[in-house]
Amino acid sequence: MTDTTPQPVRFARGEERTRLALGARLAREVDAEILFDAASRGRYSTDASIYQVIPVGVVVPRTVEAAIAAMQIAAEEGVAILPRGAGTSQCGQTVGEALVIDDSKYLNRALEIDAEARRAVVEPGKVLDTLNAELRPLGLWYPVDVSTSAQATLGGMAGNNSCGSRSLAYGNMVDRVAAIDAWLPSGVRGRFGREADIRDPAITELARKARALYERERDEIAARYPKVARNVAGYNLNRLAPENFNLARLLVGSEGTLAWFEKIHLDLAELPKHKALGVAHFPRFYDAMDAAQHIVKLGPCAVELVDRTMLDLALSNPAFAPTIRKFVRGEPDAILLVEFAGAERDPQVAGVKRLADLMGDLGFAQAVVEVLDAGEQKSLWDVRKAGLNIMMSMKGDGKPVSFIEDCAVPLEHLAEYTTHLTEVFRKHGTEGTWYAHASVGCLHVRPVLNMKGDGAMRMRAIAEEAADLVRRYKGAYSGEHGDGLVRSEWIAPFFGPRLTASLAEIKSWFDPKGLMNPGKIVNPSRQDDRSLFRFGPQYHQPAPRTTLAGQHAAPRALGTARRRRCRGGSGARRARPMCLLQGVQA
Ligand SMILES: Cc1cc2nc3c(=O)[nH]c(=O)nc-3n(C[C@H](O)[C@H](O)[C@H](O)COP(=O)(O)OP(=O)(O)OC[C@H]3O[C@@H](n4cnc5c(N)ncnc54)[C@H](O)[C@@H]3O)c2cc1C
Repeated sequence: MTDTTPQPVRFARGEERTRLALGARLAREVDAEILFDAASRGRYSTDASIYQVIPVGVVVPRTVEAAIAAMQIAAEEGVAILPRGAGTSQCGQTVGEALVIDDSKYLNRALEIDAEARRAVVEPGKVLDTLNAELRPLGLWYPVDVSTSAQATLGGMAGNNSCGSRSLAYGNMVDRVAAIDAWLPSGVRGRFGREADIRDPAITELARKARALYERERDEIAARYPKVARNVAGYNLNRLAPENFNLARLLVGSEGTLAWFEKIHLDLAELPKHKALGVAHFPRFYDAMDAAQHIVKLGPCAVELVDRTMLDLALSNPAFAPTIRKFVRGEPDAILLVEFAGAERDPQVAGVKRLADLMGDLGFAQAVVEVLDAGEQKSLWDVRKAGLNIMMSMKGDGKPVSFIEDCAVPLEHLAEYTTHLTEVFRKHGTEGTWYAHASVGCLHVRPVLNMKGDGAMRMRAIAEEAADLVRRYKGAYSGEHGDGLVRSEWIAPFFGPRLTASLAEIKSWFDPKGLMNPGKIVNPSRQDDRSLFRFGPQYHQPAPRTTLAGQHAAPRALGTARRRRCRGGSGARRARPMCLLQGVQA
């Protein structure tokens, strides 16, 4: 697509003084930590993706007004703006040559909790686990249970249209955000929600345009948007139908490219009082994938996959081995964790019994282990959630790389899709471990690649073939983690020229100067643009220094290895003072 929007200021080396002048102005006029030094910019140059771009500078606002003042200055100076929460994005959404606005440190309050209406209003930097800790005594929770719940902010979750393991029962962010109070670079500030809740005439006009665009593109949207439970590509055009129209749905999943969210209005849910878990065993991976479409009809709230590789890795880890030995019988090629939850105990237990019957009908008699104790259920979920951490501890330069990690296909094609994608991996001399959301056809898989070597080339080839497969099965290429730098390029091939142009049109209404997180969703760079990689084209790995006979420079190398091990993604933040992704689970 041709780029028609004006480009934000780029700071070349010679303009360092201009950049520093911006920092000085921000320090004078804004109530915030202003971080323009090299170390701070380094800390914010990565997220949990393979990319690394040094930002112009970082603002950590102490108040909402300060955040807006900083962004207004950036807009005046023509500098790009990049909202950021915990920075756990896997697709490079939070890296860019921009002024980073970090909401996580100070803008992290729950402003209102209305237990009766089951509604909460939070600031964008509120972390999910801390919100749920406040809700628990009220018997409520916010049920978009992302694996990064200990870090993920509600602003970032709304920005990415995040999805949890129990989305089958509770939906995704787009289903559970009632409204967003947001700021646009034009200075417009107000509520984006149902039309009745919109007060600002400029926002009413945006709602009118969104509705008109939907009417105009209705057929194209119906033809192009995949009919799967998980699709986070582009903007949510398919959620703009006149019935229950809500303009917030356009902002959810916009990855910081349209607006900065000041307050997020959340639809809460009742905490289920009783849960029952069935561990369904399968002799072949294919059988597990084929069974998912039948299991979801039993009404579970989660169906999560753990494959043989993951089971073996867990068995070699003393923290998880006892759980696997206790609940996994024999040597299945895959297990599905099937959870039933609700207000009464008996229907949940009956759900597990129905699961056992269904498994018998499918030819797998005696293949379900019933787990009713809450503590034991948790230990099994911990194994499932620790999957990515275990995988990332893989030794050597080859690492599981996130770029097709969350494609989603209709459940009836899941078995064929996983078989064919595994063949693609083999063809390119690699392999991947499969796990996660079988319930919605959105499995996590990361091929092992050496991004310091020929990884980029092989990544591209695998990405192309995976895209062909996903298209063949009418699935979603971005099923959970967003577009960012790794997948925005694929929006056009999937959505076609009309809808791709519609996304650019929407961007031009909200952000005509192209200041908000440029290069994501609209006007993207290439996925394999190595100049944006953490390990760029110039990357050279120095030989390890030998200090004592036969020993390498131990403390530093060990420290690096430890930091690498605790990375949430294949290239998570490089120079954070501590590992912010510690304890992150996938
Ligand atoms: C190990 C691992 C496991 C994961 N598991 C899941 C999972 O189970 N489900 C899932 O959906 N995702 C998952 N993710 C991806 C990621 O954790 C989620 O998308 C998370 O919700 C992002 O939250 P964050 O605070 O880190 O957002 P960030 O990464 O900081 O930001 C996300 C996006 O939102 C935008 N944004 C942030 N704040 C604002 C604001 N105030 N206004 C406007 N835009 C804003 C940013 O610009 C960016 O585009 C996982 C990632 C990792 C590394």
